[in-house]
Amino acid sequence: MPRIVMKFGGTSMAGIERIRSVAARVKREAEAGNEVLVVVSAMAGETDRLVQLCKEASALADPKEYDVVVASGEQVTSGLLAMTLQNMGVKARSFMGWQLVRASGVHGNARVEKIEGALLDEALKEGMVAVIPGFQGVSDDGRVATLGRGGSDTSAVAIAAGIKADRCDIYTDVDGVYTTDPRIVPRARKLTKITFEEMLELAGVGAKVLQVRSVGLAMRENLPLRVLTAFDDLPGTEIVPELGEDDMERNAIAGIAADRNEARITLTRIPDQPGTVAAVMGPLAEAGIQVDMIVHAATAGEGSSDLTFTVPRASLSQAVSALEKSRATIGGGELHTDDAVAKVSIVGVGIRSNPELAAKMFATLAERGINLLAVSASEIKVSVLVAEDEMELAVRVLHTAFGLDAPQGEAA
Ligand code: ADP
Ligand code: ASP
Ligand code: MG
Repeated sequence: MPRIVMKFGGTSMAGIERIRSVAARVKREAEAGNEVLVVVSAMAGETDRLVQLCKEASALADPKEYDVVVASGEQVTSGLLAMTLQNMGVKARSFMGWQLVRASGVHGNARVEKIEGALLDEALKEGMVAVIPGFQGVSDDGRVATLGRGGSDTSAVAIAAGIKADRCDIYTDVDGVYTTDPRIVPRARKLTKITFEEMLELAGVGAKVLQVRSVGLAMRENLPLRVLTAFDDLPGTEIVPELGEDDMERNAIAGIAADRNEARITLTRIPDQPGTVAAVMGPLAEAGIQVDMIVHAATAGEGSSDLTFTVPRASLSQAVSALEKSRATIGGGELHTDDAVAKVSIVGVGIRSNPELAAKMFATLAERGINLLAVSASEIKVSVLVAEDEMELAVRVLHTAFGLDAPQGEAA
């Protein structure tokens, strides 16, 4: 009997009416002869509300208590979905993260270590639909641990891999993965297929349609993954290991992503000598702050250099205090910060073999007078940092320049 995991995001779970329509979809899959596990998110907006409550209660909330609070949204939707299914005559029961998902790492951003699948196997054998709260697991110390924002996608993929499901379907509020966020570019085009590698990069640079860890895990496990809408019967997007012959005609750029979650830090006139960059980065790494784009350039003939890099916006003040401490070691330098920046990235397997694509990106932005504050590149991605108020324009002009716009009348 095919075994499937269906994951429903916050918009699909927002209110009893929508939960009923999710239940109807689940019932259909169960009646079609599948063993069904459902992973749910909290109702849309609920996790934000809980995060805000934590901030109000304590500016520096204990991460373990933060997890106790923010994990609660998924508990509510799991119970509600299980009882709605029962009400429709479907055998169903809910579980809690601590019964199934072992997690490790920091609270608030924990990683899945292991799925304890025995309880799930038992429930499936009894013909039950298993309803599982996403975003949560149990840490080594026996406390609830959450998996980072958007983490229900990762819960779904981890559970699908752990219980050897035949596929994992992610139901969300758009009908697939688009060439860019359709909320920014209404003429974005739905992709029928995208490679794991491209999806990993797109998610990594801000396309929140899938949490980046879920894509990495599905890729390692070779798990068939799809993104679909919960509101219609449309085909969605398949995430595949490689594009087939027929798909090769697809644009060299798969998509464009934008991310407002970064802040820029610049240290000017620091000594141009070995060890300076290490002295800056060391304390940031110790504080657990992830540094993303890095630009380091010496000023010719002056013995000094400028260092620009980005950190998650939420970590800016923590980064600044870590840097204040290391300024003494570095010797000199002025510190500037800017949190009104955004990162815009083009992603596609075509970049690997065509260096002109990066040049085209820079020229397109230059034509519109958009200034680049930093640039970084990997094999299949080029990212630029721009002023936040130019982000949407940058995405739109690149989308057009790379031929990604849907023909008029065919928009999302
Ligand atoms: P869920 O609550 O179902 O997990 P999310 O809000 O986390 O949903 O992710 C879906 C959203 O991702 C969409 O509403 C869309 O605005 C955004 N998004 C960003 N980039 C893309 C993209 N390339 N394709 C589709 N959606 C995207
Ligand atoms: N509810 C959590 C969040 O909003 C997890 C998720 O929905 O994926 O981040
Ligand atoms: Mg999400």
